[in-house]
Amino acid sequence: MNSSAVEETLSSNLYVQQVKKLYNVGKILGLNEDVLDTLAQPERVIQVKIEIKGKDGQVRTFMGWRSQHNSALGPYKGGVRYHPNVTQDEVVALSMMMTWKNALLLLPYGGGKGGIRVDPSKLTQDELEQLSRRYVGALYKYIGSDIDIPAPDVNTNPQTMAWYVDEYIKITGRADYAAFTGKPIELGGLPARIYSTGLGVATTARLAAEKVLGGIEGARVLIQGFGNVGSFTAKFLEEMGAKIVGISDIKGGVINYNGIDVKKALEVKDNTGSVFNYPDGKKVTNEEFLVSDCDILIPAAIENVIHKFNAPKVKAKLIVEGANGPLTADADVVMKDRGIMVVPDILANAGGVVGSYVEWANNKMGEIMDEEEARKLIVSRMERAFDYVYTKYNKLGDQDMRTAAMAMAIERVVNAMKVRGKL
Ligand code: GLU
Repeated sequence: MNSSAVEETLSSNLYVQQVKKLYNVGKILGLNEDVLDTLAQPERVIQVKIEIKGKDGQVRTFMGWRSQHNSALGPYKGGVRYHPNVTQDEVVALSMMMTWKNALLLLPYGGGKGGIRVDPSKLTQDELEQLSRRYVGALYKYIGSDIDIPAPDVNTNPQTMAWYVDEYIKITGRADYAAFTGKPIELGGLPARIYSTGLGVATTARLAAEKVLGGIEGARVLIQGFGNVGSFTAKFLEEMGAKIVGISDIKGGVINYNGIDVKKALEVKDNTGSVFNYPDGKKVTNEEFLVSDCDILIPAAIENVIHKFNAPKVKAKLIVEGANGPLTADADVVMKDRGIMVVPDILANAGGVVGSYVEWANNKMGEIMDEEEARKLIVSRMERAFDYVYTKYNKLGDQDMRTAAMAMAIERVVNAMKVRGKL
């Protein structure tokens, strides 16, 4: 491999990206290297082998992980993703981001994340169920409403949580429903949880647009990814008066400056499996999509999609990170130099875990908050977090929003570690 290929490989590692961001912020906070060294490591990572039996009787083997990054503020909390590119490093990085996200939102949680290296589109529903149950079977000792609380993430959903909770109760004999969030309503799930990430992304996009675009009304928005986060973000932004001008998924994007009809896009996705089949608009590749003309760009799929090579070509005036880690550390530098505001993932997509928190608290107390009340609470927590971060951003002067958000989160975690005598 030549040196630029090595650099490219390294820079596509989410863990390397996150550690870079941590050390940058640590320096600004004046934290000693030993403190940053300990924050860079997870408290525990569990690797499990998951075997399922296919219809043909053959055994299929998958690797899975749960990373428990930091528990200074409470039990570990974070989703579980199913994706063919999942690695231990990636899960560790995502668990570290959960530590910051939960701290930033003042939730009583540490950070955790899980994943299985699998392409779920290649499994039958029966195989997915087996896989999910076996994952919990391998990890149940490390999970519980006061230990570690998994939730949905990329390619997992309320049905996955239902299998998890059923298997967990079967194995442990304890009806600890609060050990998982993002459950179906029938099992103590919160009706607002399904859209809470998208609601939070749209809320922070609205607040940021008020600061840098003069308002959300009429703003032209490109949304990359049309899964749970992208689709609900599109719906809420459309309701707020923004104009969705492009949507995309793994197959590619569709752009229409007269506006995309979100309801129709959802129908196209349901009927054909992909929003790329949306009929009215120009078809573009995924690379073209990210650098197309717009006011707000919302990457809501996976990590590292905006990097040093395409960052200079991005036309948006505002970027809101619906996904975790869509901008590399190099892309952050480019955006800061170009004066493009980036609402960072740990703030922008935190509505999901706020929804989870409400669900968990309700389950613990034995009552269910009604949908409207939960929705209001999620929006007000997001507004408060945005205000805190924006104020800190102004106070710091020559730093970006990510630095402001991470600085607040890291300070909270470090202070908790100090009073507990860990530092
Ligand atoms: N997977 C989501 C995230 O990355 C939600 C986590 C949760 O609800 O625990 O924030």
